Order: sequence, then C-alpha cells, then structure tokens
Amino acid sequence: MHEHRQQARIFSVQRMSTEDGPGIRTTVFFEGCSLACDWCHNPESIDRQPRAIWHGWKCMACDSCLAVCKRGAIERHEEGLRVDAQRCAGCGACSDACPTTAMEPKALVRDLESLLAEVARDRAYYDRSGGGVTVSGGEPTLQAPFVQAFLEACQAAGLHTTLDTCGQCGTEVLRSLISHADLVLYDLKLMDEDSHRQHTGHGLARILGNLEAIWAGDDAGSAPPLWIRTPLIPGVTATPAGVQAIGRFLAERLGDRVQRWELCAFNNLCQDKYQRLGLDWAYQGQASMGMPELEVLAQAARASGVEPSLVHMSGPGVQS
Ligand code: SF4
Ligand code: SF4
Repeated sequence: MHEHRQQARIFSVQRMSTEDGPGIRTTVFFEGCSLACDWCHNPESIDRQPRAIWHGWKCMACDSCLAVCKRGAIERHEEGLRVDAQRCAGCGACSDACPTTAMEPKALVRDLESLLAEVARDRAYYDRSGGGVTVSGGEPTLQAPFVQAFLEACQAAGLHTTLDTCGQCGTEVLRSLISHADLVLYDLKLMDEDSHRQHTGHGLARILGNLEAIWAGDDAGSAPPLWIRTPLIPGVTATPAGVQAIGRFLAERLGDRVQRWELCAFNNLCQDKYQRLGLDWAYQGQASMGMPELEVLAQAARASGVEPSLVHMSGPGVQS
C-alpha cells in the first residue's frame, strides 16, 4: 500500500493548460480508464499495459530501435514504424536507444515527490490566474491511493486542486479523493442507459449513483463544487434531446452544487494518435463541430432548466 501511495503510472504532464478547470493549470494524466468511450481522445490512456509509442515526425529512420528490441515488436511499414502492442513488453530499450525521443514509453512510473516538485514550478502562474493542479486521465480514481496522497500534498503546499473524473468508481473511493479536491470536473455524457452502455462499455448506475450520493445527499454542502462536462459527439451525445435530459437531471438533482456546465465540441485532432498506436477510430474522417451546430446544442442546454449562465461551450477555436 505504501508503495502505491508513492508511485503512479502517468502518461503525460501538461503545463499551461487552460482547459481543465479555472486559470492556468498543470494537468497530470494518469494511465488507465474505467470506461472505454468509442470517441476517446486519449486512446493511449485506456489500458495499463506498458508499451512504446512512435512519434513519426521526430524519427530519422536510423533503425536503432529495431536493432535493440529483443521481442521483435517493432516493424517497418511503408508509412513508418509500428509497435505491435501484443508483443511489446514495455522494457524501454527502444526509447533508450532512440537518438531523437521519437520512440517513447507510453507511460512513466513517477514518484510523488518529483511530481509535486514539477507541478509546484508554475506556482507563480497559478497565483496570478487563479489556477492550480488538475488530476485527469484516463481515470485518476483507478490509482486512488497515489492520487489521494498527491492531492493532499498539493493542498498542503497551498496549490488549488481539481479532480477530473468520469465517475465510474466506488463511492468511497471518490469520497476519499474529493476530500482533498477544491473542485471536481465530472463527465456526464448521456442519460440513456442503453446508449451509454453501447458507447462507453458501462451503464449509468455508478456515475449517477455517485452524483446522487455525494452531491444530492445530506452532506452535499460539504462536497466541492462541480463542473459538469459533456462531450458533444456527432450522432451519439450531440442531440438537443440528449443535452436537455442531462440539463434536467442537473437542475432537479444537483441544484446549486453545479457551478458550470461545459459543452465540449467534438474535434478530430486525435486522428493521428490512433494511427500512431495502430488503432482504428470509429470517428475517422468525421469533421470537427462548427459554431452553428454547437450554438443549437447550447440553446437546448440553456432551455433545459439549469441556470442559463452556467452553460459554456469549449473546443478548439470556441469563444464562450
Ligand atoms: S519497449 Fe521493449 S519490447 Fe517494446 S518495442 Fe521497445 S524494445 Fe521492444
Ligand atoms: S531509434 Fe528513434 S529515430 Fe531511430 S528509427 Fe527508431 S524511432 Fe526512429
């Protein structure tokens, strides 16, 4: 247990983020996810299998990585290198041999102290902008002991903390983490059980149950405020009726615990990630969402019963 509190598998630390809570933030992306949304923009985060990732634009085709891989997991194809996820053991030999960092481990094992030191470096930006640190993923609740210790350490260091979760976890796990979070970003994608199961791999029981237990119960006032986030996925969540169903739930069950409801416009910027990982993406070729379509959905949200000023739009190029 002690070790789990001190180390975690993290696939990225993004500084200067303005998308994951208020102000300028550092977002820590934890590996592993409890859902499997078919539109996922961080496909490298879903499983927790160690493996290498190839970044074509940095590659100088020296073949050093192929020479050191004892498992024959790297293959050269017409379009570049491909790492066979089944054969790769995540040993890191190819990354060590690569002269340009074109071959990198999917995730790194990080210890709490070095991670805290890294996020604390931007304290001046947080202080000036009202920002702080966000734990995201993947799904950070899957590495709860470490995340709890990390959030606690951030708060002790005077840093504002935000937990970004899909809510697919046990209620007690969630309680243990939000006790050290100043804000919670909570994904709510669909209110239709069958559709949720079809597109994310799980039903809604835990996700809605956690919201009810923590933010609609007797002690709701002591829980941190919520920012609800809804990804607008063409043909799945991006319908006025779907958005309104979410809005009705927020208004009727969570009331003033919701500080903001963010509608996140679909974009296709992750297409090349899927190619790099050798995975197919169900939304390949789907155009990013434009402002007119987004406005229609925002209007539906504002008319759903929530306080209209809580509704915000986000996405590349969106000014809300
Ligand atoms: S991480 Fe190890 S097994 Fe995987 S591709 Fe690199 S050298 Fe081969
Ligand atoms: S070692 Fe690095 S630069 Fe050389 S072929 Fe492999 S990925 Fe490309």
